[in-house]
Amino acid sequence: MSTTPLAQQPPSTQYFQKGLGLKAVAQGLLERDYHSHIVDYLRRHDFTLRIADMEIHLAQEFGFCYGVDRAVEYAYQAREKFPDRRIFLTGEIIHNPHVNRRMIEMGIGFLSGQYSNGVSAENLAPEDVVILPAFGVTINEFKQLSAAGCILVDTTCGSVLNVWKRVEQYARDGFTSVIHGKYFHEETKATSSQATKYPGGHYLVVRNMEEAERVCDFILGKLSREELLAHFVKAISPGFDPDLHLQKIGVANQTTMLSSESLAIAERLKQAILSKYGADDAHFRNFDTICSATQDRQDAVMKLVTSHQLDLMLIVGGYNSSNTNHLAALASQYTRAYHIEDPRCLMSAELIRHKPFGQSEEVETRDWLAAGPVKIGLTAGASTPNNKIGETVVRLAELRGEKVEAWLSA
Ligand code: SF4
Repeated sequence: MSTTPLAQQPPSTQYFQKGLGLKAVAQGLLERDYHSHIVDYLRRHDFTLRIADMEIHLAQEFGFCYGVDRAVEYAYQAREKFPDRRIFLTGEIIHNPHVNRRMIEMGIGFLSGQYSNGVSAENLAPEDVVILPAFGVTINEFKQLSAAGCILVDTTCGSVLNVWKRVEQYARDGFTSVIHGKYFHEETKATSSQATKYPGGHYLVVRNMEEAERVCDFILGKLSREELLAHFVKAISPGFDPDLHLQKIGVANQTTMLSSESLAIAERLKQAILSKYGADDAHFRNFDTICSATQDRQDAVMKLVTSHQLDLMLIVGGYNSSNTNHLAALASQYTRAYHIEDPRCLMSAELIRHKPFGQSEEVETRDWLAAGPVKIGLTAGASTPNNKIGETVVRLAELRGEKVEAWLSA
């Protein structure tokens, strides 16, 4: 696991980055809150379960990743270690509503976002405990928390720290970081702040290939600086000057993007730079920073959709979970795919609530589950606990008038 650069560590506060010595206790609590015996059964039975004429295939990599596991475990450890202190998260610990609500039930507050109860970073006292999420926080947020003197429990994922190192190196070498990600996502905000750590360091965030094309058009003289600046106004560093800051670029990505798209974007940008400057690596650098957990889950979806004739696929996870959205996007290229927040979205065999990829609102779709034999693919994003996967299987069985337990031992 990577460590936070020494220069960034708080000078005098208590700072926990490698747990709080209560792993065994926390593991027991995690088991209680998120375990699923149905998921265990699927793992032991080739990731397949038959329920009457329904065949359910679980992807072979799914659910909590190592970074999320660790972040949630540290939050439980913090609650155990400091039972009488106020404990806060800077924002959502991970993008799953059930896990965030569990944090509230445990008496952990949120300093920002939809779960905030009005306490903000300005109101913190030195005896308070603050948990930094797996996405990390921006340099300014870190400084503010350090200045408040709070006890910090840093759960920033090692894979995110690796991206920071890349971006920091780009900035140190005079390269602008072009980050494939969402400029408003916590991880990308934290990562892009690393680019401004050095004087003259800059960043630009592209969300998709269409935005990468705009950057290429500017590099190749097909788009004006005004048009570029107007489009990326929220996704660039302060003082960003495209004429100056797109001469030397280094590509990185939010760890949870669609890997194939990240690779294609890096290649497209490279070609634009080559066209403009010739075969000169003094102007272009690239490092694929998709994390292995994201890659494994995307690969597992690919394997599932290409090795089974699925009638449909369910992808379980928070609607604001980047990696879950990308699993849904990938699956939808091969089959009918429904991104559901939890099993309650399976309202009946006729009606499903789900979020189509690229949209922010949930929609309802009718006639999603036909009578008769059906093959259903199932997966879950890196922030989805196993109990929500198991409950989805239970709900599918109910929609067929069956009890899942009757089929587990069959
Ligand atoms: S998705 Fe990847 S980067 Fe994010 S917490 Fe999980 S392992 Fe870490």
